Amino acid sequence: MASHDELRDAIAGAKRILVFTGAGISVDSGIPDFRSPGGVWTRIDPLTLSADRIQGSRRDREAFWRAMVEVAESVGQPAPNPAHAAVARLQRRGQVVLVATQNVDGLHQAAGSPPETVAELHGNLARCRCVACGTRYPTAEVLGWLRAGETLPTCQACGGFVRPDVVVFGDPLPMRALDRAHAAAFDCDLCLVLGSSLMVHPAADIPVRARRAGARLVVVTLSTTPVDALCDLRVRAPLGEVFVQAVADLGD
Ligand SMILES: [Zn+2]
Repeated sequence: MASHDELRDAIAGAKRILVFTGAGISVDSGIPDFRSPGGVWTRIDPLTLSADRIQGSRRDREAFWRAMVEVAESVGQPAPNPAHAAVARLQRRGQVVLVATQNVDGLHQAAGSPPETVAELHGNLARCRCVACGTRYPTAEVLGWLRAGETLPTCQACGGFVRPDVVVFGDPLPMRALDRAHAAAFDCDLCLVLGSSLMVHPAADIPVRARRAGARLVVVTLSTTPVDALCDLRVRAPLGEVFVQAVADLGD
């Protein structure tokens, strides 16, 4: 298949790859795309999970956490899939400057990507933090408090409100992760977009910046994207087929 050979050659010829991933890379791990039919956004109002609610009344915060429990339950305890493993393999080959992900599932790290090489643009669902003092708690622990009957998770150190360490509607993106992704966009010779429809801004601007800075832009995603006309190579196939095979063909 032509797209397979072209993808393999594009990856083989790159020395400094910015890998940019979205929900599509985790679909094979059973994580539903929240925006798709049947996704969690069709069952709860996404605005329940907003920065306004976090900053709101006790009622708002309780409603926030009820919705959050539903999100956490819909995600379950997924395992990384061969596409995550292929990204980690590219990293071991020394070709990757950064993995920037819109996902909050931690599956790149679970597949062997060193944590310091992954910029989590939307945070990580496995962590929570106190809004007052910043103390971190594993989300599993916080969910345990809720199951035990608490309706409002509060910090054991200061009594502040404990929220998930993920970006919700109205939140700014984590500055450090965004800065690292922007730096990599200017530094890379290939921006490889995997499983993102590039619809969520400002994260989705990163591949455009990379292209404008002179990198090749390769997008492997099933859906159409706003940057399709900018791409040097556009592959519309499941990651598990074309991308995983292309990396396997490169060898170790
Ligand atoms: Zn605190």
